[in-house]
Amino acid sequence: MKLRKAMQAISSILRKHNVGNFLLESTIIAAYTLKKDDLFVLSNPDLEINQTFFYNMLKYARRRVYGEPLAYITHKKEFMGLEFYVNKNVLIPRPDTENLAEEAIYYIRNYSLKNILDLGTGSGAIAISIEHFTHATVIASDISYKALKVANINKKLLKSNIYLVNGNLLSAFKSNFDIIVSNPPYILPSEFNSLSKEVKNEPKIALLCDQNYFLIQNIINQSKNIAKFLLMEIAPNMSFFLEQISELVCIKQDYSGFDRIAIFRF
Ligand code: GLN
Repeated sequence: MKLRKAMQAISSILRKHNVGNFLLESTIIAAYTLKKDDLFVLSNPDLEINQTFFYNMLKYARRRVYGEPLAYITHKKEFMGLEFYVNKNVLIPRPDTENLAEEAIYYIRNYSLKNILDLGTGSGAIAISIEHFTHATVIASDISYKALKVANINKKLLKSNIYLVNGNLLSAFKSNFDIIVSNPPYILPSEFNSLSKEVKNEPKIALLCDQNYFLIQNIINQSKNIAKFLLMEIAPNMSFFLEQISELVCIKQDYSGFDRIAIFRF
């Protein structure tokens, strides 16, 4: 069977099941199955592939149709120009969160900050990118061992010098940090049903906070004692609440104009 035919079959399955980017995704699935890059796949439509490859492509397409995010199938996601390993135990790094990493890098450079904590690091994407671009000392913590395993894989893959720590919020830390960066879970339980089926496949512990934002308040209160700055990703509808609870907050927009980062200077 020719690769062209296999890809047509895959993209038509994806299209029928409303996978938005069906052409791109069928290319990525073919490339992943053949262990080649997208360019190879696109430039070799006449390649003869065997049945096993085709069955594997069908298997991945089926998982995708059931709502599994593509990044969990290929175990790859690009963030800040670096390629991260991901699995179902971590949130998939989002382009939105690049705003947070870029802002942190700006603060670190501008204020010559040295000691950084990434709270709730997940895949390690924020911590590793910050360390990569600034060479500051970066500690990355998470309550989930399974997430820390992924962060450790990325640390090795990307030859990063971040330090990984297991802990619940800031309880593991007595020392002071110049800056705490965090993309905490901030989706309200009442908002869960409105999420896409892909997002519903991501770990709830990384997505959902409590209905009263107690978790977010805890992060702010605990950071106050041990950090100069807290940079936190937020949902656009959280700014009003944050402005009510702290006069120290300054809200920044992302490139689409949505409130996206809360900056606290303590
Ligand atoms: N921004 C993510 C989403 O809407 C959620 C990330 C988070 O809760 N920190 O899917």
